[in-house]
Amino acid sequence: MKFTVQNSFIEELPADIQIENYPRQVRNACYSYVTPKKTTNPSLLHVSEEMLKELGISKETANSPQFLQVFTGNELIEHTHPYAMCYGGHQFGNWAGQLGDGRAINLAEIIHNNKRWVLQLKGAGETPYSRTADGLAVLRSSIREYLCSEAMHHLNIPTTRALSLSLSGDNVLRDIMYNGNAAYEKGAIVSRIAPSFIRFGNFEILAARKNTELLKKLTDYTIKHFFPEITATGKEKYLAFLKTVRDKTIDMIVHWQRVGFVHGVMNTDNMSILGLTIDYGPYGWLEGYDPYWTPNTTDAQHKRYSFGSQPQIGLWNTYKLANALYPLIEDVTPIQQMLDEYYTLFDTAYITMMKSKLGLTHENNKDIELIGKLEEILQLEETDMTLFFRNLSKVSKSDSFKSAFKKVTKAFYLLSSIKKESKQHWEEWFVTYIERLQKENITDKERKQAMNLVNPKYVFRNYMAQLAIDKADKGDYTLIEEFYQLLKHPYEEQPSNEKWFAKRPEWARHKVGCSMLSCSS
Ligand code: AMP
Ligand code: MG
Repeated sequence: MKFTVQNSFIEELPADIQIENYPRQVRNACYSYVTPKKTTNPSLLHVSEEMLKELGISKETANSPQFLQVFTGNELIEHTHPYAMCYGGHQFGNWAGQLGDGRAINLAEIIHNNKRWVLQLKGAGETPYSRTADGLAVLRSSIREYLCSEAMHHLNIPTTRALSLSLSGDNVLRDIMYNGNAAYEKGAIVSRIAPSFIRFGNFEILAARKNTELLKKLTDYTIKHFFPEITATGKEKYLAFLKTVRDKTIDMIVHWQRVGFVHGVMNTDNMSILGLTIDYGPYGWLEGYDPYWTPNTTDAQHKRYSFGSQPQIGLWNTYKLANALYPLIEDVTPIQQMLDEYYTLFDTAYITMMKSKLGLTHENNKDIELIGKLEEILQLEETDMTLFFRNLSKVSKSDSFKSAFKKVTKAFYLLSSIKKESKQHWEEWFVTYIERLQKENITDKERKQAMNLVNPKYVFRNYMAQLAIDKADKGDYTLIEEFYQLLKHPYEEQPSNEKWFAKRPEWARHKVGCSMLSCSS
């Protein structure tokens, strides 16, 4: 396998001087060299055709024994020096100290078609950052990460990508629900790909250790390679950097709110500095529209990372990044101003996004009210978010309430028992909405086309992931391929896949893996 290797991160930033692989605090360094663990009997389950193309890897190469060996950690790419990154983070609101790549190993940085990509293995064994854990990953969480990151990309949402999903051939012990019932599961490795995996936490750990010199070095490195548009100097440079990261974070979260994606663990170590969705763990997709919903069982009580909290957590995390970069700026006023602008920017982007979901293009000062009201009444009865918005595009300017409502009824879980007051609210809302549509000068057909580009027909529903996992556990990987193909075109009508455009089946309501996930992975 031939790549144009260009290891900027390890060439420009200092390495841990220790090379033995044992858990430790790593100071004065941004990473530690580490060799992936050998796997006994690896096998390739799936490869992303899109990523092969992005990276310039031919299909023949993907089928070669070498590809399998490289992407399961048994062989190194020429001229490369794998490493794990050092970062810290705030977890569930508290400073957690050093975390780092405990089970991720960066193989190499390559350039293809003028784009920089880091090739990373997740689940390839212990690193100095593994603390007491094993550095491994199990099949279920690897299927979830692999399929969801590619699905997010096709939904036009900034995300890390995935190239391959493999079984390691080794067994991994996990206690899924943290209740003392540990069991062996199949080990797996996902190769993840991104221009960079730098997180907010990479900066936080250096600030926490008062290592301003290295903090500056890492920030300069990040700006040079990933924010070349920033040309300011001195403190203005770092302020511009903070603002850009803030804006990218807002953009990413607005996208999440658009499709009903709940990350589940928005700790600062899981926030990409490039504004990419990263670290697919106990994430989930809203089925019934509920701002208080969180898929993460660890978060069930406080709901810190629920759907409706994501915008606010984006700001909280930006605060933490701003604190970390303070030593490079040493001026509170512009930092505070940057943070104060967050909600204004977020709200503007959010309203624009929601208007696009409703197919509204004109300015109208009543739109905010229309959107707010819809968010309220979507919660009156259990209403599937994806089905509702997708079918809303069928409503026409000439519809009555009755005919319009009929078009979205598929979204209601218990249509026959909708309360009278709820129906009343829906009637008021639809009457206003249809009047509003009449003020637009695009045709119903044009509006439908535009709405269908932002309201996906197919998302990776929680139970779908679990179906693919249950089959894969039995050695049948066909659903992985089926979902991979389905989710490549989430905005298109796919008549043969209509069965995935449906509400969650009742059996999945309380099943582990379908509506609630633990962090155990
Ligand atoms: P996460 O909650 O997956 O974002 O992980 C938080 C921290 O725990 C990161 O530093 C991870 O690298 C580390 N971690 C999670 N799972 C493992 C594991 N199985 N082995 C080693 N480190 C892990
Ligand atoms: Mg993480």
